Amino acid sequence: MPVSFQPASFRPAWFAPAWFRRLLCGLCACLLAGKAFAAGPSEVAISDRSLWPDRLDTPAAFDRASRAELLSFGHALLDSEHLDDATLAARLHLKQVDHAAVERLRERWWQQLARNYALASRDCAADPLFCAPPEAAADFRRAAQFFTAAPTSVYAAWFADAAHFDRVYLDELLRLAALFPRTSSEVDVYSAQESQDGGLADRQFLLSLDDGPTPAGGDTDRLLAVLRQQHLHPQYFVLGEPLQARARAGSATALATLYADMCVGAHGWTHTSHSRRPDWQDSVTNTLSLIRHDMPDSYVALFRPPYGQRRADSGSFFAGQRVGVLLWNIDSQDWNGKTSAEQVRQRVLSLMLLWRHGVILFHDIHAKAQTALPWLLAQTASSGVVWQDCHAVPAPPHG
Ligand SMILES: [Zn+2]
Repeated sequence: MPVSFQPASFRPAWFAPAWFRRLLCGLCACLLAGKAFAAGPSEVAISDRSLWPDRLDTPAAFDRASRAELLSFGHALLDSEHLDDATLAARLHLKQVDHAAVERLRERWWQQLARNYALASRDCAADPLFCAPPEAAADFRRAAQFFTAAPTSVYAAWFADAAHFDRVYLDELLRLAALFPRTSSEVDVYSAQESQDGGLADRQFLLSLDDGPTPAGGDTDRLLAVLRQQHLHPQYFVLGEPLQARARAGSATALATLYADMCVGAHGWTHTSHSRRPDWQDSVTNTLSLIRHDMPDSYVALFRPPYGQRRADSGSFFAGQRVGVLLWNIDSQDWNGKTSAEQVRQRVLSLMLLWRHGVILFHDIHAKAQTALPWLLAQTASSGVVWQDCHAVPAPPHG
């Protein structure tokens, strides 16, 4: 019998029978052990989409899976609010946490989750699964608090996997939040010049590709062939040094042809933190100048800082240069040596269901995107998801 988030099952999770709680704990322990082996000590959040029993082949099916992801993540977020700063720091393996930053970001996540849940609940009259009962519909926090799955449900295995995924993924976010603003990252913005989600609407996703180009004939070229086959037009962020080397080894004309119909912004001259680099402004402007010179048709006035690290006071520089800073809100973790292409694609799909829109980070210097992207496109082909053409994405500030 499928789980139905109806009044009958709308009860606190701790009302679940004891034997079911033990079963869940056992499942979590197995999953933890498996994930620890698969993902290594860095604990990257990896989901197993094969445990979700439905296809995502209609917009309604996408919304149902999205509601489930939102409730599961909301439940994990709520659980984390019971921790004091010292306990949270220990859980995140940090000496201390920036309490104000964590609180501010938690509140923003709650607002985004509530918005997403409302968007995912438009068809609840026709498909009541994972829909909140009327008395909780206006309060996503309350709906997430009471989220649980019946042990006999076809969603029970997914529920256990999602609980683990969301706990690990939440810790990834909380860690970034706890370090911000002392250590900058993609988790928050400093100014109106910066954006995490590209100002995209619900179900719209922009693919972004960092760190290239590789020398001719490498992974950059192989991925571009895949993208053209899939009719994708992503946003590239290239490094000045390898771009210059490739232009010298070949020609600027060859580069312009290579990136034709794509958008290309700057990732800095070399892959170093732009929060500490003394010549960070030159690194940005020199790379943008090179792109504009070598491939004017692909040039866009966008910068993405390596590691998401930039100065807190850099907003006036970017405003003066009329350059936008595009961060990301979905990290594929394809850069992590501990993730496989299959793990990367499953993680990204779960995060697309959770955040419902935004900018996805991949790297064209690694091979994983070459197989992960065709799979993601196939999975979402009839789900109403739009893979946004980079030319149609507004540059920050979004107002
Ligand atoms: Zn990078």
